[in-house]
Amino acid sequence: MHAPTAPTLPSTGHCIFCDLIRGAAEVSICYEDATAIAFLDIQPVNPGHVLVVPREHYETLQDIPGDVGLHLYQVATRLIPVVQTAAGASDMNIVVNSGHAAGQNVMHYHIHLIPRRDGDGFDVPLPFPGSEMPNRQQLDAMAARVGSMLRDPLASHR
Ligand code: 5GP
Ligand code: ZN
Repeated sequence: MHAPTAPTLPSTGHCIFCDLIRGAAEVSICYEDATAIAFLDIQPVNPGHVLVVPREHYETLQDIPGDVGLHLYQVATRLIPVVQTAAGASDMNIVVNSGHAAGQNVMHYHIHLIPRRDGDGFDVPLPFPGSEMPNRQQLDAMAARVGSMLRDPLASHR
């Protein structure tokens, strides 16, 4: 497990969200406080697609200090019903793409709040049609592995 890290500059040396946060580019902000900022996604799935973002630059979920992560979820939880009503949406996806392989494109951690409507054409395809469908023994083995690593984090390095 990664220990939470101090905010770092992005490895590319440039971060569009850091630019937005310091006011260097146009952005439509719907909430802000000392730790968090929430703004409208520039390429929304539906109107009202909001990103909840830490002011400091952390890349993935594993880099976020616990108190910052908790605060971001508190902000998201407060925003969800308001955004849903403002957008006139019936439902909502809350999505985090954490890391390149998980589809994260902007490497400054963010929580997507995506208002949804029937027939809007967006999909988070779960359950995954390409799943290899593990048997109970395989599921139990993974559950036991996770449980033992929670009890003994060093086990993950053995
Ligand atoms: P990711 O793929 O990293 O989970 O999502 C990045 C999101 O950031 C995308 O939904 C994309 O539309 C949004 N985005 C990228 N550049 C900008 C920008 O300059 N301004 C705003 N408001 N959103 C952006
Ligand atoms: Zn950044």
